[in-house]
Amino acid sequence: MNIISGKEVAGHISKRVKDRVDELIKQGKRVPKLVIVRVGDRPDDLSYQRGAIKRMDMVGIAHEELWFEENVSIETFFEKFDEINKDDGVDGILVLRPLPKHLDEDRLIRTINQAKDVDAISPSSLGKIMIGDKNGFAPCTAAGVIEILKYAGVEISGKKVTIVGRSNVVGRPLALLFIGLDATVTVCHSRTKDVKEACKNAEILVASCGKARFINKEYVANGAVVIDVGINLDEEGKLCGDVDTASIEGIAAASTPVPGGVGAVTTSVLASHVLCAYENALKA
Ligand code: NAP
Repeated sequence: MNIISGKEVAGHISKRVKDRVDELIKQGKRVPKLVIVRVGDRPDDLSYQRGAIKRMDMVGIAHEELWFEENVSIETFFEKFDEINKDDGVDGILVLRPLPKHLDEDRLIRTINQAKDVDAISPSSLGKIMIGDKNGFAPCTAAGVIEILKYAGVEISGKKVTIVGRSNVVGRPLALLFIGLDATVTVCHSRTKDVKEACKNAEILVASCGKARFINKEYVANGAVVIDVGINLDEEGKLCGDVDTASIEGIAAASTPVPGGVGAVTTSVLASHVLCAYENALKA
């Protein structure tokens, strides 16, 4: 089984971004900038932020943190958020979610400046994917899955794809991206009657249900390409994906590891989206 290295894909995307940023800076343009909005100190937010900052540093994108106490008032939160939302020096905004309940996430996703919505949280950004409008961003993880398949040379057009999970961050937008690339898509969720059968039928299988090692050999067809989006801790507290990789060895043609798979690619896609938002701002 071929193990597709997310690190390699991320390195490839990062180089492309860095070369372009360097070129624009040489032309005397300002440095692109990402603002990361975080409320409280949840470990998974901190871990994602560290990865994102490392990637931005690697490619020459400036970054700033907009941090709030967990009990920040809604007025203070939106007052500060509106400032960065309107600031011409800010190209991309990444909001680490979920926000605490009292902060009105619905207001946030409807307020975020679409031009800076580099992780596609707004209904308009998601709507663009729905109608196949290329002038928008897809959520970075969903876009990362497509980047991995393209880099690995996996043909998508005409393929049977099954996605396990239908979240707004991964499963749903990914299904739309695949449809846009002419795949035939099945999306499973917790009420799907026969997840195994739907998976076994797939030539490309994406596991994004957030269940440690849920997908094993009984779910995988011979020669399938398996992309593992999951980031979980097993009973021993060890990091693992949604796929039991050892079990599908000899059955799947290729799969992505956890760690070092989709997660590694997500931040490089984020960097490429910030670059794109910046270039759009330069043209405006
Ligand atoms: P989520 O919002 O919890 O959604 C999980 C989805 O899986 C839901 O649609 C749920 O169905 C479905 N599901 C749960 N149990 C199932 C089962 N037994 N059979 C079939 N479907 C089932 O999670 P998420 O945000 O999409 O994230 C999914 C995983 O990806 C998590 O492990 C997360 O940590 C990881 N992740 C990784 C990255 C990355 O960069 N690598 C980024 C984001 C997320 P219902 O809709 O019916 O509840």
